[in-house]
This record gives sequence, structure tokens and C-alpha cells, in this order.
Amino acid sequence: VPELPDVEAFRQVLARHGVGERIVHVAVLDPGVVRQISPRDFARDLTGRRFRRPERRGKWLVAPTDGPTLLVHFGMTGGLSWASPADKRERYDRVVLSLADGDLVYADQRKLRGLWLAKQDGEIAKVIGRQGPDAYGLTGAALTGALEGRRRSLKVALMDQSVIAGIGNMLADETLWRAKIHPSRRFDSLDTQERRLLDRALQQVLRSSIRAGTIPRTRAWLSSQRGLDHPQCPRGHGELRTSRLAGRTTYWCPTCQPSET
Ligand SMILES: [Zn+2]
Repeated sequence: VPELPDVEAFRQVLARHGVGERIVHVAVLDPGVVRQISPRDFARDLTGRRFRRPERRGKWLVAPTDGPTLLVHFGMTGGLSWASPADKRERYDRVVLSLADGDLVYADQRKLRGLWLAKQDGEIAKVIGRQGPDAYGLTGAALTGALEGRRRSLKVALMDQSVIAGIGNMLADETLWRAKIHPSRRFDSLDTQERRLLDRALQQVLRSSIRAGTIPRTRAWLSSQRGLDHPQCPRGHGELRTSRLAGRTTYWCPTCQPSET
């Protein structure tokens, strides 16, 4: 599932290949991913436009052109890649934006979200909806400001895009395990030291994941254990626990992350 680091990697693909380049052709292979506009208008409005510098806002990719702004949300299975015009189309390729020397390809198996066009800045906000501050670089008082007073568990608050933008299920679990904080605790119950650990863990997890282009699933990461029959704490404490929080499977270590007493 694309989370902040994955979307940052997609942004870099677009920045590397697209900035200043003209979109010479738009192929909507599957109209199901183009939102709130007909595929024909989508293609017409983008053709001939040049990409400007793309941004990431939480899990959204915001890609302005000298015309409308392209907004992309990758849902559960979306991705953006660069392909040479000679490359064979893959099964889940949905939209192809052809530039002079290659194609930007939006692929998505499950098609939960997709692509929007915004003609003015106000429309961008309307499509994206209410979002909290971006998780990357959100530290100290800003992190506290986003989380304090939230009545739900930390895990649920961290995944709520209107509280903090960019964190999904895996990043939330990884961060809480690194910080040694039980996922059901509330932010207001954390002491100063625990808040500092949470702050540091979140930025470390984001930095390493952005560098890797996705959340690493190597042995030192909790994420490496997801989906295994007997997931183990990478710190050597034996089997991890799982439960459901906000409808998502949560992994934690009863030794590293004791619940409040
Ligand atoms: Zn542990």
C-alpha cells in the first residue's frame, strides 16, 4: 500500500522526467481511474501542457502544469513509473502520459482512487479534502499540536489524514514499535520521554523509508514480519501480537510495547 515514502518516490519519478516537458499524448486505457471528468476532457485538457515542479501532500501527488493541475492518489495499489515508448504495456496500466522521450505510466490493480484535474487552487483543496500537516518534518511542538487532545488511540490518530498526512497502517505500526509505545495508548498519556521517542522514531522511519523509496522489509524492520504465520519481534522478544484497529491489522510486541497499567 503506497504510503508517504512511496508517493515521494513517485513524485521523484515525475520530477526527474517530467518537469518542463510537454505532454504530447494522453491515453486513458481505463476510464475507471479518471475522476470527476470524462476521459476525453481529461486527455484534451492535459495534451500540450508542460509539467511544473511536482509536490507531495501527505499521500497525494500534486502535479501542476502550465494549465490544470494533475492530482493523483494511489489508493491501495497505484503507482507511477517511467517507461520507454518501446516497453510493453502491463496488465494494470491505466493511464499513459507520453512525453517527448518516454511515458509516465499510472498503473493500479484495484483502482480505489486515481487521477483528478484541478483548474484553480481552490479546486485542489476541494479534491484533497481536509488534511493535517505532512508527517515528514513534523517534530516537536508541531507534532504535539497535531496529536494532543485526540481521544482515539495513537495508532488511529497517526493514520487519520486529517490529523497528520502521509502515514498509513505500516508506517504507524513501525513508528510505534520503534518508539516502544503500545498502539492503543493515547497521546495525552505519554510522558516527556515517550513523546521524544515517538517524535524521533517517526522521523527516522520516514527518512529511511524515503531513502529506500518504500518502507523497507528487511529484518530490522517490524514490517518484515507482516503476513507471516509467526511474526517475531525483530528485537528478539518472540512472537508479535496482532489486533484490529480502525479496521486494519496492527502488529505490536508485548515486551517492547507494554500496555498502560
Ligand atoms: Zn519486542
